[in-house]
Amino acid sequence: MDYRKGLRVSKIVFFSGVGVWLLGIAIGAIIHALAVIMVSAVLCLGIMFVGIYLATKWVRCPHCGGSLMLGGLIPGSLPNYCPHCGENL
Ligand SMILES: [Zn+2]
Repeated sequence: MDYRKGLRVSKIVFFSGVGVWLLGIAIGAIIHALAVIMVSAVLCLGIMFVGIYLATKWVRCPHCGGSLMLGGLIPGSLPNYCPHCGENL
């Protein structure tokens, strides 16, 4: 997996988790079911965790293999240079 594509895909996964939660809140509010909101919150956390996991796997420097994550979080954009080996990204 290319690191740029990997970043994009893991971001999509991460934010679709947020989308699931918002959808759950909306549905739960409409049908007055707290359980729906609770389940969607758990699903959201699970999906976000998967997104972060994929990013730690895929968002890596192609030169040295060092992680390009921002302290365990998915970076908003990629740095110009690898923080590990200094190679141009
Ligand atoms: Zn590197």
